Amino acid sequence: MPKKNLFGYTLKALEEEMLARGEKKYRATQLYQWIYVKKVTDFDSMTDISKSFRDVLKEEYTLDLPRIFTKQVASDGTIKLLVEMEDGAKVECVLMRYDYGNAICVSSQIGCSMGCAFCASGLLKRERNLSAAEITGQVMVMNKILYEEGENVSHIVVMGTGEPFDNYDNVSSFIHIMNEAKGLAIGARHITVSTCGLVPGIKRYGDEGIQVNLAISLHAPNDKIRNELMPVSRAYNMDVLLDAVKEYIEKSGRRVTFEYILIKGVNDTIECAKELSERLRGILCYVNLIPLNPVKEKPFERSLDKDTKAFSLYLNNHGINCTIRKEWGTGIDAACGQLKEWGTGIDAACGQLRAKYVLKGRN
Ligand code: SAH
Repeated sequence: MPKKNLFGYTLKALEEEMLARGEKKYRATQLYQWIYVKKVTDFDSMTDISKSFRDVLKEEYTLDLPRIFTKQVASDGTIKLLVEMEDGAKVECVLMRYDYGNAICVSSQIGCSMGCAFCASGLLKRERNLSAAEITGQVMVMNKILYEEGENVSHIVVMGTGEPFDNYDNVSSFIHIMNEAKGLAIGARHITVSTCGLVPGIKRYGDEGIQVNLAISLHAPNDKIRNELMPVSRAYNMDVLLDAVKEYIEKSGRRVTFEYILIKGVNDTIECAKELSERLRGILCYVNLIPLNPVKEKPFERSLDKDTKAFSLYLNNHGINCTIRKEWGTGIDAACGQLKEWGTGIDAACGQLRAKYVLKGRN
């Protein structure tokens, strides 16, 4: 029997597991406190647990974390880790430092099968889902680095490689693990899941019962353009998608974010802004305009600054709150004329997390 990784258990699941073993339910809380609050990484340090039960724990469970394969730090403090899972599969996660806290962007799958035309993550198809322990592991590995600075991960975005709602159950466990008051206690409002628009997932997300944030990658004002950019749009067109979003807002009372990458000559005209504002009118939302991060295998270019500003101005003047995603970075690659991004020079920006690491083994 392979050992079970404790980082994959919600508190409720761990309580059930303990009860099923004939242990008291509070064992689960004890374990949660040791691993998430007291930051202990081995069973022997859990001094309020009997030696005999610690031996059982060692026999049947692990506290293994993904292994750091490479670590890159940009001069703005952004950290990108390539971590290796037990089977050799690798994924990236990125830490961004805001003045309000430390936000980690985690991956939810090895590769991605959504096939968005502008994104690097789908260059190789999805290989497998990440388990809840492997997603939690990304946060805990980053926390280990931050604990040394007296800091910790305070915000989470599930926006790395993969489509979170194509791995719904594990992502759901993950957000409950992060949010657990007896563990890391990361506020639900500090947790955001971003989807390309898988409608069944949006419906389930509305029933999670915690106030987590939802972001939708929209990237187009109509089905014609969206179909060209995002194959998912052929399964769930904009009417169906926006109906699900409205239903979600009704259930959760939460404002949603629409992400919209501005791509030169594709979706960045004033006509597009007009159509978008008409489609979104009356929906409790705001639009986050994302400057395209070029991916060398893809033909798309970033919109001109003046078009980005005009698009944003149009939306704001027509009742749709909109911001342009702030760009950071100290320009590691400034010499190459790159615009400043989160972790410029380490390919840490949205859509640049790559599937090449899907390849197993060391590269
Ligand atoms: N599958 C999820 C989450 C991963 S992508 C989703 O689609 O939302 C995270 C965000 O980065 C999405 O909004 C995605 O559309 C965006 N993105 C992908 N490629 C990009 C690129 N080249 N430049 C800028 N943003 C990109």
